[in-house]
Amino acid sequence: MPCRNFLQQVKNNEIDIVEHTHKVIDDCKKINKEYSYFNVISEELAIEQAQSIKKYINDNIKNNKKINKKLVGVAISVKDSICVKGIESSAGSRILKGHKPLFNAAVVQKVIDEGAIIIGKTSQDEFGFGGFSVNVGLGFKIPKNPFDEERSCGGSSGGAAGLAQKAPFPHIALGESTGGSIACPASFCGVFGLCPTYGRVSRYGLIDFGNSLDKIGPIGKSCNDVALLQEAISGYDENDSTSLNVKNEGYQSYLNKPIKGMKIGVIKEAFADGVEGEVEKSVYAGIHKLEKEGAKAEEISLELPIKYGISVYYMIATSEASTNLAKYCGMRYGASEKLEGSFNEYFTKVRSSNFGDEAKRRIILGTFARMSGFRDAYYIKAMKVRTLMIQEYKKAFKKYDALASPTVPIISPKFSEIERLTPLQNYMMDVMLVGPNICGLPHLNVPVGYEKNLPVGMLLIADHLQEAKLLQLGSAIEGK
Ligand code: GLN
Repeated sequence: MPCRNFLQQVKNNEIDIVEHTHKVIDDCKKINKEYSYFNVISEELAIEQAQSIKKYINDNIKNNKKINKKLVGVAISVKDSICVKGIESSAGSRILKGHKPLFNAAVVQKVIDEGAIIIGKTSQDEFGFGGFSVNVGLGFKIPKNPFDEERSCGGSSGGAAGLAQKAPFPHIALGESTGGSIACPASFCGVFGLCPTYGRVSRYGLIDFGNSLDKIGPIGKSCNDVALLQEAISGYDENDSTSLNVKNEGYQSYLNKPIKGMKIGVIKEAFADGVEGEVEKSVYAGIHKLEKEGAKAEEISLELPIKYGISVYYMIATSEASTNLAKYCGMRYGASEKLEGSFNEYFTKVRSSNFGDEAKRRIILGTFARMSGFRDAYYIKAMKVRTLMIQEYKKAFKKYDALASPTVPIISPKFSEIERLTPLQNYMMDVMLVGPNICGLPHLNVPVGYEKNLPVGMLLIADHLQEAKLLQLGSAIEGK
């Protein structure tokens, strides 16, 4: 059931939230046994919240007051890298095992204030390092695609997207994207995923991957679900120095607004070699649907993001990640071991046994890129290309309302196929996604069809702060 209908029923007092939440948790446990979408199911917290929501509803009804909280009774799952007070939040890493934050991330506090029920922490690549959710930390389980258990959910917000598709109850997921981790899993799981403009949503309480890239955003079964959660989490936060002080928009009011006359630029380079034929076919079908609704689509060439995006992204992302991970030395957070030897010996021991392979690879790569003598050649150069890429996009948005491409060049691969990919082939999966992420542009995955019974996603990118346009376009083809 879409959250909008559920909310109506709650407001009409037709649902006992406590009973409902017990059932939700039972469903989560059942799903988790088979699909591994959760690192933690926060049963106690959920029931506690349900009880206080039930009281809020009853009190308001008794006093003839309106129930105006936006998410009252709605189940929200939280990517493991987003802190929930008192609930183990490990960003999918063994090095943070046992870490129970002392405060809620800003987004978590916001949804709780709107009456949401936090049902648990969803599985992900360790610290977000991956595109298939197979780079989970040591001891964590890999989430399985809701359409075929031998395939990937995408990543790194794999558990979030899998659950968004599979949950039989009204639910929206909080995901996070550094270089594509909202749209990619949304594409593989056949759901909507909105990565907002950098700075639109507070990062306070997010376990950082790359500070200049990280964005928190919603993943849900319908455009409306995604718009609803985006409304609840947008807004300025003085605790985040990169937070934008801009007006919060009522995204839901843009849904199903006519799109006649809107202009779509179809990125030519994104349909080059390497894109599976079936994916291309479904994405064009999606573009035709937009045209049928009155939008105008034409091809546009956008060279820099596809040509240099992957190199620029991995320079910036690994540089920032390697500094962020330096604080995990077995003393302040999570895992620790018997304190012996020098500091260097101690933290080497802790990090060797608690970080997974991909985390180690990225620490080495990022540390190298930041070394004095190399910094100008790699990190600074990447930052310069980033500026050029922003300029190229900005030029395109003078003419177009949105840009379209496949979200990922392939449908969800089998785990056995992923094993055979080299790290570089693995990184190439994000070729369409790194551009908007590097440039802080909002983007939306729109499910556009099925090939071999697996979902295909189209990526729509808009100019900074134009999330509403994306939702408007997404809703124009939803279910058609
Ligand atoms: N797949 C990309 C990476 O491996 C993006 C991950 C993300 O957005 N967290 O870095």
